[in-house]
Amino acid sequence: MINIGLYYGNKPIEAIVFTPVSGKYNLYTENGMQLELVTGEMIYISYDKNGIKVQDLDKVIGTFKNVNLIGVASQNSFKIKCEKPNYKPRSYDDNLLIKQHDFEDKLVLINNIDLDNYVAGVVEAEVGPSPPEEYFKLQAIICRTYALKSYNRHDPEGFNLCDRVHCQAYHGRPKNHKIRMAAYETSGIVVVDSDINLITAAFHSNCGGQTANSEDVWTKPVYYLHSVVDTFCRAENNACWQKEIPKSKWLNYLHQKIQLDLNDSLSIAKAENLTQENRQLSFRLDSLHQLNFTQIRQDFKLKSAYFDIVDNGNTVLFKGKGFGHGVGLCQEGAMRMAKMGYTYPEILHYYYRGVHMIHISTLDFFKEE
Ligand SMILES: [Zn+2]
Ligand SMILES: [Zn+2]
Repeated sequence: MINIGLYYGNKPIEAIVFTPVSGKYNLYTENGMQLELVTGEMIYISYDKNGIKVQDLDKVIGTFKNVNLIGVASQNSFKIKCEKPNYKPRSYDDNLLIKQHDFEDKLVLINNIDLDNYVAGVVEAEVGPSPPEEYFKLQAIICRTYALKSYNRHDPEGFNLCDRVHCQAYHGRPKNHKIRMAAYETSGIVVVDSDINLITAAFHSNCGGQTANSEDVWTKPVYYLHSVVDTFCRAENNACWQKEIPKSKWLNYLHQKIQLDLNDSLSIAKAENLTQENRQLSFRLDSLHQLNFTQIRQDFKLKSAYFDIVDNGNTVLFKGKGFGHGVGLCQEGAMRMAKMGYTYPEILHYYYRGVHMIHISTLDFFKEE
């Protein structure tokens, strides 16, 4: 089981309606069990100065410090309708724990959920419902590995992970049944490095034909986040992009950022026309000045750091490949491989070289050694 903070970073949640969708729920508080809820039964839960107020349709049940809605059938799911603020209903698997926030007037909602059910929800939020099944399995293993590696991220707030991109996007139960099956079929499988530590399972949308070294994007070299040539993503949606900016803007940038002398026509000419045959960290204009592609990507909000620059008269054209930081698994390449019939272990090892897939129970065994 894992605890996920819901509606994290949203407006303060003051009132919700809780409804069991499948299974059966018991409502527990610090005073023990208060009531049983069957499918379709609604209860209203709101923030109150004295605690968490629980009401059914015709009466107030009480005000409590903790309210835990625990599924007691073999499979349980519920719906939350946020009333204050007003949000669309969302459905979730397993349990809901409700607390009052330590210093704000709001409820803290925590989905206490089976790891595989959570992984299925994340896979759908991260990749959408349409890719091939083999890809769902791959993404399930990556999301599970990521969740366990980040397990203590929100400890001070009373849960493990939040439901935002900060940890992993999670909007509740997946709509596609195949995603749930992919999470169950790969249940417990995680990816580790040669020291049996969970890997940093970095991924991005499209690498543009070659993935990046982790040390070129972040600071640390990681042996399994090493650049690989990827022929699978080159015809996919995010393979190419272009951006045009006024030449004066580009030259001013060079002057301010790297103090390039605007009378230095040789270096300027190089900066207005350069090609990145393979992914490079930087480009040397002369003995004093160099361009850093990751920095330029950030400063001009480009889709990737893998681009050429083309002189276009009054403008310069950034002609780029790929979308994202480029480190680790290329999602569009991996999806193409899955469509072509590659298995998820083959795809995983293509992008993360020298890693191992193991079951979580084995991980515990190695840790105890
Ligand atoms: Zn988070
Ligand atoms: Zn790629």
